Amino acid sequence: MIIAIKRGSPAEEVIEFIAFLEKQGVKVHRSDGEEQTVLGLVGDTTKIDADALRARHLVDKVIRVQEPYKMANRSFHPDDTRIDVSTDGGGVKSIGGGFLGIIAGPCSVESREQIIAVAQSVKKSGAGFLRGGAFKPRTSPYSFQGLGCEGVNLLMEAKKETGLPVVSELMTINQLEIFDGVDVIQIGARNMQNFSLLRELGHCCKPILLKRGYANTITELLMAAEYIMAGGNERIILCERGIRSFDDYTRNTLDLAAVPILKRHSHLPVIVDPSHSTGLSWMVPSMSKAAIAAGADGIIVEVHNNPEKALCDGEQSITPDVFSDLMDTIRKYAVIEGKTL
Ligand code: PEP
Ligand code: MN
Repeated sequence: MIIAIKRGSPAEEVIEFIAFLEKQGVKVHRSDGEEQTVLGLVGDTTKIDADALRARHLVDKVIRVQEPYKMANRSFHPDDTRIDVSTDGGGVKSIGGGFLGIIAGPCSVESREQIIAVAQSVKKSGAGFLRGGAFKPRTSPYSFQGLGCEGVNLLMEAKKETGLPVVSELMTINQLEIFDGVDVIQIGARNMQNFSLLRELGHCCKPILLKRGYANTITELLMAAEYIMAGGNERIILCERGIRSFDDYTRNTLDLAAVPILKRHSHLPVIVDPSHSTGLSWMVPSMSKAAIAAGADGIIVEVHNNPEKALCDGEQSITPDVFSDLMDTIRKYAVIEGKTL
């Protein structure tokens, strides 16, 4: 961090300010130019609040050199993180560190028949994980809100039937007690900056699939991950799921460039959601391929056995047949990228 001091600042105030900075655990290198004094902070500056420094009357400019996140930062952890999830049959499914995680299933759990049928078909095609929302964050309070506890129980039945580990969205921390059998907790776009929820998840021992908020920057996503990691839970999977832009052809705009950026700056696995980012089922196969070609560690894709009758997100849900063809292509892409499915 570099701090430029305002010209004409009283010498004793500068000395006091340096002492204040050093108390925060950093070394301060002072350089007195002809025009201005500049302070170079060396050490861990992640806990220093740059905005609070800017508010001080003797500070002219503050420039952050280091990223504000530490635990999620690749420079503190050069190797890729791999998230291992144990399966009921005694196996392990991994995401990241050379492993592609393919998460497939309906937007919402709707009935026993639906979730079992979709789970069986995606398993047959080679998916590694089953997704299904039991608690749905819907824009309208009058839309289907998910089956709640019953939805979680049905997911457990589908897990037992297929052996697939399950991924489901948690909206408030008191739902955690019924998520005992859920293998990966999804935190949706709308809750990415629910800081009290993120803090609670820091004490939870399950992997967290953290989706990027649709109006959040890449740094904000990494800071959200940092919240969870700072509490002790380091098993986080980042997910690019599209952001809001001026274009309305697609539901959101898939920011595919976020994939190599996140992978460059963080060691955490990064997956892409081609369903919510486009909102259109016919685009899902091409965007899934693009995601893997861009270096993603997997995808989370909505699959429904009858998209036309889906209670949520039917327009973006692919059928089990389309998913099966997509898996055939993904297997080829995995070979090109040197990744294991
Ligand atoms: C979902 O995965 O069903 C979902 C609601 O996702 P997002 O939070 O990305 O909108
Ligand atoms: Mn959905």
